[in-house]
Amino acid sequence: ARKFFVGGNFKMNGSKASIKEIVESLNKVDIPDTVEVVIAPPALYVHWAKEHLTNPKVELAAQNAFPKANGAYTGEIAAPQIKDVGAEWVILGHSERRSIIKESDDFIAEKTVHALESDLGVILCIGELLEERQAGETVAVCTRQLEPVVEAVKDWSKVVVAYEPVWAIGTGLAATPADAQETHAAIRKYLSEKIGAQADGVRILYGGSVNGKNAHTFNDCPDIDGYLVGGASLKPEFVDIIKSRP
Ligand code: 13P
Repeated sequence: ARKFFVGGNFKMNGSKASIKEIVESLNKVDIPDTVEVVIAPPALYVHWAKEHLTNPKVELAAQNAFPKANGAYTGEIAAPQIKDVGAEWVILGHSERRSIIKESDDFIAEKTVHALESDLGVILCIGELLEERQAGETVAVCTRQLEPVVEAVKDWSKVVVAYEPVWAIGTGLAATPADAQETHAAIRKYLSEKIGAQADGVRILYGGSVNGKNAHTFNDCPDIDGYLVGGASLKPEFVDIIKSRP
C-alpha cells in the first residue's frame, strides 16, 4: 500500500515569526503513522524550521535545487546544502518554475537525477495549463513532462509525483475527484509502461486548491495518494488535510 502523503508548499511566503508559528503548531499535532507529512518553507527558512521542529513525523523539503553539488552558480541552492540544514526532500518542476522561470522538462529531469543521487527525495510536479486541458492535451502534457525523467531515473522509490493542473493552483477551483482520478490513473498507466511494477509504489499527489474542506472528497480515488498543498498549508486547516484520510 502507498502511504498517504501530505506536502505543504509555502512558496515565497512567510517570515521567521510566521514560519516558527506554523512549525510550533505542527509540533503539537498527533500525526498518525499512516501519514507522511513534508513541509517546504522558502530555502532561507529551512534551517530555521528545522531548529524549531520537534515533531519527528514532520519532514522538511526545499522548493528547488540546482543540479550541481557546489560551484560558481550565484543564487542557486545545492542538494547537499539542503541535506546539510536538515531537509530530506526537494520539490522540483513546480508549474511556477516551469512557466515563470521557464525551466524546461529536460532541466527538471537533470535536477531530479542530481537530487536523487544526492539522496534527497523528490516531489516532482507536473500538470497542464488551462489551454492545454481545453485542447484535450492533459495526459499528453503530463507524459511529455515525465518522459525525460523516466528515461533517466531507474529507481523510483524516492520519487513522489505531484499532479497539479495549473488552472487549479491558487484559484479555489480544485479539479473534481473524478477528473483528478482519471488523470492520476493515466499517469500511473504511463509510469507502469515505462518503469514497470515500480509504478504501483509511486505516490501520485493531487495539488491545486486543496483545503481542509475538500480534501476528504478525494478519499475514494484509488490513484490519489495524497496532496501537495499551497495556500492552505500556511493555515490551521493544514491539520484537517493531514487528518482527512481515515
Ligand atoms: P494551492 O493549494 O494554493 O492551490 O497551490 C497548490 C500548489 O501549487 C502546491 O504546490
